[in-house]
Amino acid sequence: MLYLDQGSIKLEEKQVVFGLPREVSFKGVEDYVDRALQNINLKVVYRPAYIEGREKSRVNIDGIWFSSGVLSLNLEEVERVFPYIITCGQGFDEMSASLEMLERYYLDVIANTMLRLGQERLREIIREKYKLEKTSRMNPGSLQDWPLEQQKQLFKLLGEEEIMCNLQVRLTDSYLMLPQKSVAGIIYPTEFSFESCQLCNRENCPQRRAPFDENKWKQYYSYC
Ligand code: SF4
Repeated sequence: MLYLDQGSIKLEEKQVVFGLPREVSFKGVEDYVDRALQNINLKVVYRPAYIEGREKSRVNIDGIWFSSGVLSLNLEEVERVFPYIITCGQGFDEMSASLEMLERYYLDVIANTMLRLGQERLREIIREKYKLEKTSRMNPGSLQDWPLEQQKQLFKLLGEEEIMCNLQVRLTDSYLMLPQKSVAGIIYPTEFSFESCQLCNRENCPQRRAPFDENKWKQYYSYC
């Protein structure tokens, strides 16, 4: 398990504002950032795991099948992947629950930004440790092709007890994680950058990380 050194993650105002809908102005960003960071304790579990089987619409990682044509295509040339769960911790949820709606919304944006930056930091750590040139990540629930229910497979892969013991994160019957500010996913080596947003045509998404790519969408979904 890895405690991410939050000091190594530089949270800049523009990164926070990036997560807000365009029409929302964000006054006093620094105060909100201070309050959020005092209550965020980024922690992560991850480990290397190996591809044991591959079919068109599913892939087997260390004996566990993951149902996703997009994931299967992305892992076509890959032998080793890095499943992970990252969380802001229980403290943030408790603090956020006591706030009024607008404040809670602002702090949510900051926590989401920290989760995104934490995942970027984890990719850097994995690249350095395993001497990889480039990595991408996929998260269950970001595409219809890989629904949220598949988080259960990631919990199995990483060990529910290990996750509870080290992160105090659990999965509810509706496949949501508690604490809420937690993300599960798979990091994998690749020669080509991939973002789920490239296959998602949702309009005005404030979290979009890449434009919708119609050609890529056709390429992936003709395969799946
Ligand atoms: S555009 Fe938004 S909803 Fe679609 S995958 Fe990206 S972050 Fe998720």
